[in-house]
Amino acid sequence: MRPGAAVEDFSAPLFIAWQLTNSCAGRCPSCCEESGPDKGWSDELTREEALDVARQITEAGIPYVAFGGGEPLGVPHVWEIFETLSEAGTAIKIETDGRYVDAAAATRMAGLRVDNAQISVDGARPETHALMRPGSASFEQATGALRRLSDCGVPAEMVFTPTTHNLAEMADAFDLAVELGCSAFVTGPLMRLGRAAASWSTLMPDPEAWAEAVTELRMRAALHRNAPTRLSIYPHDIEQEIADRLDSPQAMMLIVPNGRVKLLNALPFAPGDLRQQSVLEAWGSYQRAWRSPQVADFIHRCADQPDLLLHANETWSVA
Ligand code: SF4
Repeated sequence: MRPGAAVEDFSAPLFIAWQLTNSCAGRCPSCCEESGPDKGWSDELTREEALDVARQITEAGIPYVAFGGGEPLGVPHVWEIFETLSEAGTAIKIETDGRYVDAAAATRMAGLRVDNAQISVDGARPETHALMRPGSASFEQATGALRRLSDCGVPAEMVFTPTTHNLAEMADAFDLAVELGCSAFVTGPLMRLGRAAASWSTLMPDPEAWAEAVTELRMRAALHRNAPTRLSIYPHDIEQEIADRLDSPQAMMLIVPNGRVKLLNALPFAPGDLRQQSVLEAWGSYQRAWRSPQVADFIHRCADQPDLLLHANETWSVA
């Protein structure tokens, strides 16, 4: 096996996904994290603990951290974390609903090492977006934030989560992304996780409808071939994703709000704990857990029992 082909070849992760909080303003039916206004965890990392983790990330030379949630920009100490990472040369990705991205925040992001910011717009029309994202940032807030970021030179990516309710608007949403100056339009099959899993039978588009919508989307993107908006369609559903990761785990570690370290957001296994371990010690636990029979058995069973994914947001120890 060539060097770099196995997760054990890496002395530190190449990439960290960090959920700073599980709290947000939304109650989106397609949310894969089951986040919401009353869903913050009681034991989320404190400012001091989170800044210590950020410093360890820089000392380990980890090049990239992606922040999701919940709503990361709703965390009071988030800018201190961004600045700690950015000053050390670590690139940042931010997934936000856009409500906090006013002109000042967009300018501040432009001064940091923000690789890209992703904002969901789940419809080409305000009514559809509101239906898909109750409580979350409005259509005007989300599209305004994308435009402000683009105008400031921050690569702004529009994310579109396809469901039975908005699939017919996917190609028109691509037009909107172009109009807003987005650097990318990102979509892919609905993930059977969190609240989406709980409402799967009503939210999941028919596979033929999804295939037709993708064809229309590609044709629409071809009409905009000179625009800067890249079309990114994730090819796999979540069952395929976890099977592929078992065969070839990525050098990517997920930190959840209380500092536990998980294998993936789709898997309930949390082999590391940043309250008990350093970042690099947790990385060792992460590497070993991917080779655990317990993890392999769970993933194999998911192929026939997808309801097991209802446990995705739990944090199980690995024997
Ligand atoms: S999709 Fe985003 S805004 Fe909506 S509930 Fe989930 S974390 Fe909150």
